[in-house]
Amino acid sequence: MNHSINDGFESISPALLQPSICAGVQVRTALFEQVIDGLSALITSLRDPETEILRFPPVMSRDQLVKSGYLHSFPHLLGCVSSLQGDESQVRGSLERSNGDWIAGLSATELVLSPAACYPLYPLVATRKPVPGSGLLFDVASYCFRREATHEVDRLQAFRMREYVCIGTSEQSLDFRARWIPKAEELARRLGLPCRIAPASDPFFGRAGRLAAMIQVEQALKFELLIPVHSQDQPTACMSFNYHRDHFGTTWDLQTDTGETAHTACVAFGLDRLALALFATHGLDLQVWPATARNALSV
Ligand code: ATP
Ligand code: ZN
Repeated sequence: MNHSINDGFESISPALLQPSICAGVQVRTALFEQVIDGLSALITSLRDPETEILRFPPVMSRDQLVKSGYLHSFPHLLGCVSSLQGDESQVRGSLERSNGDWIAGLSATELVLSPAACYPLYPLVATRKPVPGSGLLFDVASYCFRREATHEVDRLQAFRMREYVCIGTSEQSLDFRARWIPKAEELARRLGLPCRIAPASDPFFGRAGRLAAMIQVEQALKFELLIPVHSQDQPTACMSFNYHRDHFGTTWDLQTDTGETAHTACVAFGLDRLALALFATHGLDLQVWPATARNALSV
């Protein structure tokens, strides 16, 4: 890494991210967004034909996320939407009674903050016809929230995730993932980003979670593309390549047209992390970035 974009949380360059509202919740500048727009267009240019595009809001159904197993695996990361419920007099009453402690009057709503872009997709596709023999491809994106325990410059609470998702047979899902790993490496190469692919696990909760993480690595269910952002020794996961086997297929009764349970895979691009990786590698002045990166991003 040639350039320091940060020296700890407080001192990240205001040219990229303005003083934060709170740890891990950043205000993006025009310079930062120019690169995010370039990345989004570049990822779009690599999209497979016949891919359906869906853009999700940053909130999703609480019931659906729980049914997906999220509460079991990652309760520590979940953010829920709560509100002061009732008619005008009830809301006013709970504000007045609260004596300033209005938070005590909050109740959970049916919504949670989406922790990954692909969770709302599977129940949506399950309401449609069975998955055709050729499988289905999706391009999804949303702002995501995770209540992260630490706040390094590249570990945000609110961040943008773009994903390509395959729903089909296990062979189709594995082929899809295998195709995307070299495509992602080529993307990083065009951007002049040093990277490596490594087996990985999700940040599962608790002691049982550590076992789940070991199994995930053993069964090669997740790989990450790592790029140095805040540290050379501990490079940052900027993309992930996930095979869910029949987890979502079974949960949502997603079937192929031969009546088998569908398998799924997703490739996730952490847009904010990729932008930070570019600034960390090439510096704050776009004019001096390598020509291949500037061309690829149209900046
Ligand atoms: P990590 O191991 O860093 O916690 P993860 O394995 O939980 O990441 P995924 O669930 O695979 O990450 O999320 C897909 C992508 O979203 C990641 O590869 C990363 O680029 C991005 N991402 C995940 N968590 C964050 C975060 N807290 N801040 C910024 N980007 C993130
Ligand atoms: Zn996903």
